[in-house]
Amino acid sequence: MSSPLAPNQTPGLVCAHHHLYSALARGMPAPPRTPTGFAEILELVWWRLDVALDDYTIEWSAKLGALEALERGCTAIVDHHESPTAIDGSLSIIADACAEVGVRVNCAYGITDRHGPAGAAAGLAENDRFLREGGSGMVGLHAAFTCTDDTIAAAAELARTHDVGVHVHVAEGEADTWERLRGHTASNWWLVHGVHLPDDHGLEGTIVHNPRSNMNNAVGYARPTRFTNPIGLGTDGIGADMLDEFRVAFVRAREHDVETDPDTVWSWLETGWELFPAARADIVSWGYSPMDPWRLAYSPGVSPTSIEVDGSVVFANGAPTRVDADEIRTKAAEAATALFKKLEG
Ligand SMILES: [Zn+2]
Repeated sequence: MSSPLAPNQTPGLVCAHHHLYSALARGMPAPPRTPTGFAEILELVWWRLDVALDDYTIEWSAKLGALEALERGCTAIVDHHESPTAIDGSLSIIADACAEVGVRVNCAYGITDRHGPAGAAAGLAENDRFLREGGSGMVGLHAAFTCTDDTIAAAAELARTHDVGVHVHVAEGEADTWERLRGHTASNWWLVHGVHLPDDHGLEGTIVHNPRSNMNNAVGYARPTRFTNPIGLGTDGIGADMLDEFRVAFVRAREHDVETDPDTVWSWLETGWELFPAARADIVSWGYSPMDPWRLAYSPGVSPTSIEVDGSVVFANGAPTRVDADEIRTKAAEAATALFKKLEG
């Protein structure tokens, strides 16, 4: 048993939905025209970026993303990855990058039929390879609306084989055909967003709420308190500052219902430990006390001072101990420059 936490300590925070590959996206060349809605944001921004990723940019985006997570007291990331022209081995690159920084990660490759049946098969194979080799992960699906029924069934079957869940975007936009997941889901599935799910959707699994991303894409508010499913909290790739995401989730929930209390929203953060029980034993010491949801909901800028993962100090005196933060930022900036050139070319 770990010793009780001091008032200025919490367990390691969990980002229940991340896209580490987006760490290099900031500053990317503008799309050919301004996207007018969620579908165009996918087509003109994210599906241009993911197809340009290679092993080099996957590695440095993951290292930068893991570093930024650790710097904000997040010791565990549930990642959802897509790199259509560099699928094979991509999940191991991400897992190794996170391990180097000292952050836990659960990896999934987002299978999709957007690049034809061969692309879907390669995505399925990458999830299978990673899990067979003992990697920590789930089977990833992009979303029902970009997958055939056969692909959805194959992902569900592969997940059952490995005794893990499926990590899938669900009803983020109105156009998603999430109903096609019915009959496949199980309690270990990771259902991301759920904005347009009806209350009685009938899907099993944890619904992961990403309030900042949902507002940024103007897809609507998920109103998570209406669901009977467990609720988790993610960033959808906009960093991994979970105290900040907690505050955004809280204030968005208050806008919807002023009686919402911070303990309810904090419980969404705690759901991450169901997937990462080991992160509950990680110790984050913060420069603030006490770490109480009612205070944190109204206290921007609370930062960690030291972090222990698996009993070893991975962050001390405001810096990571295993890696050189300046070096990661420099190399990641070089990788971003290479990525942007590809996008312009
Ligand atoms: Zn996402």
